[in-house]
Amino acid sequence: MSKFSEYNFADQKALIRVDFNVPLDKKTFEIKDDTRMTAAISTITKILNDGGSVILMSHLGRPKEGPEDKYSLKHLINHLSELLDGKEILFADDCIGNDAEQKAAALKPGDVLLLENLRFYKEEEKGDEAFAEKLSKLGDVYVNDAFGTAHRAHASTAIIAKFFPKEKRMFGLLMESEINAAEKIMKRAEKPFVAIIGGAKVSDKILILENLINTADDIIIGGGMAYTFFKAEGGHIGASLCEDDRIETAKEIMDKAAENNTCLHLPSDSIIADKFAADANVSSSMSTTIPNGWMGLDIGTMACDMFTKVIHNAKTILWNGPMGVFEMDNFQHGTKGIAKAVVEATQKGAYSLVGGGDSVAAVNQFGYADKVSYVSTGGGAMLEFFEGKELPGIAAINA
Ligand code: AMP
Repeated sequence: MSKFSEYNFADQKALIRVDFNVPLDKKTFEIKDDTRMTAAISTITKILNDGGSVILMSHLGRPKEGPEDKYSLKHLINHLSELLDGKEILFADDCIGNDAEQKAAALKPGDVLLLENLRFYKEEEKGDEAFAEKLSKLGDVYVNDAFGTAHRAHASTAIIAKFFPKEKRMFGLLMESEINAAEKIMKRAEKPFVAIIGGAKVSDKILILENLINTADDIIIGGGMAYTFFKAEGGHIGASLCEDDRIETAKEIMDKAAENNTCLHLPSDSIIADKFAADANVSSSMSTTIPNGWMGLDIGTMACDMFTKVIHNAKTILWNGPMGVFEMDNFQHGTKGIAKAVVEATQKGAYSLVGGGDSVAAVNQFGYADKVSYVSTGGGAMLEFFEGKELPGIAAINA
């Protein structure tokens, strides 16, 4: 059993760092996607069921200078209440200070207090100690359940932990499951381990590729980033996305993979378009002979079949980044095909983790989210985890 599950929260005020950074409608402030809120509910419910009370703190959006109504957490009160079976949600319109302190002190077992946006204070992102200490005074126990911000050394995600003794600081259920899922891949991957890396830019994925070369048996590369690799090999990529300043890096990655016997798979053919638009003219081509003026916007059918074979053979799968511009109907077949292959491999017993904003959006869009082993809620945090970095939010609890 985990530390959180074993802990009895009766009569304790649990200060929980949640990631309620949800997208809001600009005019009505309605929540457009509540995944991050629903992900925290089991942690909150366990504490309330134990007879504890809960103080929730989060950031929302990127406020620049102090409070801004559009970034107020008050917009989340009604929906949070619905998610907690109609429970009354108390609200402090400043995350520190007298009002927050008094409301926290008056909490009774079963009560829920939501604090205003932490990032209304610049001290939050600066990791200010005095600010972290003020926050820490609000609760008896610190629970970090914000995996999405675990890669930041902010006041509420990392610095605050030291103000609680080791037995009174812990991960919440979401954090625990994210860490377990990530460690299953990074430390205990059953082989063959296949990593699928896509998305727009090589520059964003260099560190994860370098780290995966040491652990994965196969790395499938798709998306816009593949064309920098083709150019590095002397291919003709037309107007496809290319980072000329990363051509050397792409060569180094290919060399390192060869040295490590890690099989790097690039999409042999592409779906090409004569402009970056949903209504572009569409054709197909080998990825190394794309005509001038045309760009690769998706992997081709041969590549999809070939990648599918590799994926079907896997026992462990990590997927980060789409295979093409899946937001446009004409260029979503590759990403959909790969999602299908990951689902089929999972049904055959492979462990599959999908992490990173756009691949998560893709599995959600295609209705596959509940057919893979794990979908991570943390884009940047998951990426940094797989880059081999120690995440400050995790290190602070474990210290
Ligand atoms: P990332 O955030 O780096 O994972 O990139 C995701 C974005 O890459 C998505 O918005 C895709 O539309 C885009 N993308 C994927 N493949 C391509 C491509 N071949 N050319 C241009 N953009 C792409």
